[in-house]
Amino acid sequence: AESGIATLRAMLVAARRAVVFTGAGISTESGIPDFRSPTGIWTRMRPICFQDFVASPAMRREAWRRKFATDPVLRAAQPNRGHRAVARLVREGKASAVITQNIDGLHQASGVPEDKVIELHGNATYARCLDCGMRYELEPLRLAFERDGDVPDCAACGGLVKTATISFGQAMPEAAMIRAEAETRACDLFLVLGSSLVVYPAAGFPEMAKRNGARLVIVNREETPLDGIADLAIRHGIGEVMGAAVGNS
Ligand code: NAD
Ligand code: ZN
Repeated sequence: AESGIATLRAMLVAARRAVVFTGAGISTESGIPDFRSPTGIWTRMRPICFQDFVASPAMRREAWRRKFATDPVLRAAQPNRGHRAVARLVREGKASAVITQNIDGLHQASGVPEDKVIELHGNATYARCLDCGMRYELEPLRLAFERDGDVPDCAACGGLVKTATISFGQAMPEAAMIRAEAETRACDLFLVLGSSLVVYPAAGFPEMAKRNGARLVIVNREETPLDGIADLAIRHGIGEVMGAAVGNS
């Protein structure tokens, strides 16, 4: 990894406008299991798809039961040195945006301004009304669920309230997709951190960057399907690589 880190450092110095693209791998050092991990809290049960959530009160109850059962892991998580290195790239004006598949909110928690984080799969740290978009914090919903078995609906319009994540079967968030594409086209360095690059359309962004003439760097422990088109692929831990290449204070 040593020579890879030196190369990455030089590529970052040379870059005028970088974009950082993150997946579950950047958050494993914060104690959030990634998708493929055998102990992953998201992999043990078949996920509830959007259509089932909307159609069935029993499914909504089950979705909220699971959410509140798994939430302590998310709430305990703190940004790690990988997140901090990314925040530093943004703060120094090196990176124009962070495009993330993660739903844990840890980029914002590490100090990246809200408007620089583009969330492709939404955010699991709060909820929204599916009809009017009203935002709800989770804690009061959890208390009502645990006390009275209440499945939340919208106080403003009566619509269904769901965590602000994008479920299977749910449309991709259009504004985020448009911004992610614009950032990808405008960058000269596209840095992937901790994504298996198998989930589309998200995995299309590194390909788009490369086609558009940007340099592509992938930092991921395991091989990815795009390593072959990358200018640099470092198969190593993100915290160590980014800490050494960028610093994380
Ligand atoms: P993924 O689980 O498919 O791939 C993660 C990759 O990161 C793996 O290839 C793994 O080898 C690598 N990795 C793990 N820890 C690493 C580390 N410390 N250093 C370097 N590499 C490391 O993740 P994905 O591509 O983001 O796709 C998973 C899907 O599941 C996404 O759609 C995402 O929304 C969701 N998800 C999100 C979270 C989260 O928000 N933290 C967690 C699990 C799943
Ligand atoms: Zn509403």
